[in-house]
Amino acid sequence: MDVPINARIGFGFDVHALVPGRPLVLGGVAVPFDKGLIGHSDADVLSHAVADALLGALSLGDIGRHFPDTDPAYEGISSLELLRRVNADLLHRGWRVINVDGTVVAQAPRLAPFVDAMRENLASCLEVPVDRISVKATTSEGLGFTGRGEGIAAYAVCMVGRR
Ligand code: MG
Repeated sequence: MDVPINARIGFGFDVHALVPGRPLVLGGVAVPFDKGLIGHSDADVLSHAVADALLGALSLGDIGRHFPDTDPAYEGISSLELLRRVNADLLHRGWRVINVDGTVVAQAPRLAPFVDAMRENLASCLEVPVDRISVKATTSEGLGFTGRGEGIAAYAVCMVGRR
């Protein structure tokens, strides 16, 4: 039996490697650091996890499917722009973001001073008030690839509702 569903949940996860000579962009904020994330786009791992959560909520695959890293159109693109496009698709399909909760896992730099600017950027892209967007930052206590500073990981969950 199929019944109308008015809310759905989505989850996203992403990792990018940290390398010298790249800007570090997280949630659209350029964070001062001596290394940055490598990727085809600006490698904004948080925005990618949020986009995957949105796509996941509607069973639409992942951002790699929607914005292939083999397509020169997406080289160096701001991931906030990708997120705007995912949100536009969501709205077009009759859904809207209810809230997002994201966590960035990075040993360094300290991200707390930048979290509110990330929330503002994500809220603007997703056309929701900023109090619907949570961004948290944690270390992995020196353990694993994030702990060794080899990369940064991000997790995000979102809820979407019918417009
Ligand atoms: Mg990514």
